[in-house]
Amino acid sequence: MGRLDNKVAIISGAGKGQGAFEAALFASEGAKVVLADLDIESCESNALDIVKNKGIASAVHLDVTSSESWINCIKFTMEKYQSLDILVNNAGIYSKVPIEEASDEEFDLIMSVNLKGVFLGTKYAIPEMRHSGGGSIINISSTAGLVGNQGGGAYGASKGGVRLFTKFTAIQHASDNIRANSVHPGPIDTDMIADNLSTPEGRQNSISRIPLGRIGTIEDVALGVLFLASDESSYMTGSELVIDGGITAQ
Ligand code: NAD
Repeated sequence: MGRLDNKVAIISGAGKGQGAFEAALFASEGAKVVLADLDIESCESNALDIVKNKGIASAVHLDVTSSESWINCIKFTMEKYQSLDILVNNAGIYSKVPIEEASDEEFDLIMSVNLKGVFLGTKYAIPEMRHSGGGSIINISSTAGLVGNQGGGAYGASKGGVRLFTKFTAIQHASDNIRANSVHPGPIDTDMIADNLSTPEGRQNSISRIPLGRIGTIEDVALGVLFLASDESSYMTGSELVIDGGITAQ
């Protein structure tokens, strides 16, 4: 028995990093997975790897900032698997440009991908989840959605928005048996923060802020996301799962 048997999941940003790992983990637990990203080639290659391991997966192009693209992604999923039970709003972009130096364009782009992308995915998934008898929406926020730090501004605003948008989704759709929870990773070793970790000093600087004394892995986050996707978390909605090695406990 898999922990996600008979469930259909869409994961945005599944071309690489956390989303790609979550797709493989979900498939190994019995889910039928749709890998969605701007980078369709990587999604296709990741889906092929899953199928080679006897999982069920497909790839679709998705720009999370576009309604049209989301409508296409959900239609693709319904035609392929006739259900939608799990949505992981994982796609995101990062910037640590300080507030005074950030441009209007950069602010708008970050809000569009990280926050509007979550709104659109949620909006278009809900009717199909309701039709499927309920579902679980997992929104990937960040510790930067909980507390401030020296870099960025738009990024933190977008992730803070994701945190609260998740609670509105939880309240408005509890009666549809649709749950929504946010996940708040600390630094996770992916391309997103490769610049910060590229030198021994940069890595040490990041580690020095983390009580558990190490950078997080994609598996650390994916195991939390799997729990929220599964029925094991059936009494959880509107909550925040912090996976940060203790950073925000300080
Ligand atoms: P990553 O850069 O490895 O992967 C991000 C993926 O999102 C890429 O495949 C990219 O193509 C996709 N993407 C970007 N814009 C998109 C768009 N408009 N439409 C569709 N897909 C798009 O990063 P990651 O570390 O795997 O990040 C996953 C999530 O975790 C993000 O929401 C990120 O903000 C969040 N997060 C990351 C860290 C970290 O330290 N890596 C920490 C906290 C939160």
